[in-house]
Amino acid sequence: MNLLLADTRPFFDACPRCGSRALEKLRTHSHCIECNYFETSESDPIESLMVDLNQEIEQLDAHTKQEKKQRLDKIQAA
Ligand SMILES: [Zn+2]
Repeated sequence: MNLLLADTRPFFDACPRCGSRALEKLRTHSHCIECNYFETSESDPIESLMVDLNQEIEQLDAHTKQEKKQRLDKIQAA
């Protein structure tokens, strides 16, 4: 499954979402390691599906992190 293998030479560019130069530009997609911004370079249906799934996972992950942080903040504030 070469489809799942990322390009071997990542190039970091400015992220359109958070502005930091943490956007990893790969052959099939770009991904920001700072804010998890994700975009595809090709309109491959399978790739698009993977992006959708990835974004869902990231949103779930971000939500979980946020919940954990809120709980931590409450504990620390107590
Ligand atoms: Zn970003």
